[in-house]
Amino acid sequence: MPIITYQGKTYECSSEESLVDGMNRQGANISYGCRGGLCQACMVKAVKGTPPAAAQAGIKPSLQKKGYFLACLCNPESDIEIALPDRRDEFSPATITTIDHLNPSVLRLMTTRPDGFNYRPGQFVNFIRAADGLSRSYSLASIPDDDRLEFHIRLLPGGRMSGWLASELKPGDELLLSDAMGDCCYRDSYGDQPLLLAGTGTGLAPLYGILRDALSRGHTGQIRLLHGGLSGGDLYLDHDLRDLAAAHANLTYIPCVLNGDTPSGGVSGPINSHLGRQLAGGENWIAFLCGDSGIVEAMRSSCISSGLDESAIHSDAFG
Ligand SMILES: Cc1cc2nc3c(=O)[nH]c(=O)nc-3n(C[C@H](O)[C@H](O)[C@H](O)COP(=O)(O)OP(=O)(O)OC[C@H]3O[C@@H](n4cnc5c(N)ncnc54)[C@H](O)[C@@H]3O)c2cc1C
Repeated sequence: MPIITYQGKTYECSSEESLVDGMNRQGANISYGCRGGLCQACMVKAVKGTPPAAAQAGIKPSLQKKGYFLACLCNPESDIEIALPDRRDEFSPATITTIDHLNPSVLRLMTTRPDGFNYRPGQFVNFIRAADGLSRSYSLASIPDDDRLEFHIRLLPGGRMSGWLASELKPGDELLLSDAMGDCCYRDSYGDQPLLLAGTGTGLAPLYGILRDALSRGHTGQIRLLHGGLSGGDLYLDHDLRDLAAAHANLTYIPCVLNGDTPSGGVSGPINSHLGRQLAGGENWIAFLCGDSGIVEAMRSSCISSGLDESAIHSDAFG
């Protein structure tokens, strides 16, 4: 009869019985839910031996490769040693290729794209610090055609993750990334609708991805990008955005500052106070609002007061 080793103890499990039932009958206390292969509550990892292929049904390929299987679908065929899931296995290692400053308080981090990592521009991932599991979300500023993943990180005084990224990491180091999440993304059905992209600070990260995604898919409607900062020094990627607007007749870039001199072609004052005027010039607008939650909420209220329906608004609020 196959022998299962788990947490230093051994259990005999016949192939007539599922591993979860057999082991729990002998007091192992393996978690379970549906016991039918759906909920994955009984997912465990083979650390020695090979689980039957049928027990890996429905599990992400990246976890299958690491030996994960469902104890409820496993009728053991041979000896195996198992362990509980390791949270770090859920994440993909990415190698840092460049770290530079976009301005004194914003870092640009470029990484390799892990094998099998798929995303849509505008989504975000969680960065995990392997040493202690510290986790923070960062939005993707790249598009899948780029050969690197790009992130814009605002440096916060005393910030645990942003401080660590800035002071400890260097090209060649590894970062753990979650799968991409979120739905603040361009859709092909928006083809000729006007798009309003508005955000402050590193809220530009998802907007930069969404903008380049829309342009690369041949968006024909007008696109207005408002990027806000406290002053002109906060408006990073300003030259790149001006170049992009010069190359695309349907794109208008509107830099916006709260204080100080109004930038060329731009506006000053709170960013949300400018959205109504932009939306007045057309119908069927789709809005993408990104950055700190308070500002996203102020921009959302301004859009709704200007007649935009909630369903036409996508947002990526940084919390
Ligand atoms: C979906 C999502 C996407 C995000 N995308 C990005 C992104 O692309 N770029 C980016 O720079 N950040 C982004 N963030 C924010 C990011 O996840 C972290 O919250 C931020 O980097 C702070 O982490 P930290 O560990 O450096 O600071 P912490 O150690 O968590 O905080 C340090 C200090 O800063 C304060 N603080 C934390 N967050 C803020 C804030 N937003 N504004 C002002 N003070 C703050 C804390 O209260 C504390 O006093 C995103 C957040 C979410 C939820």
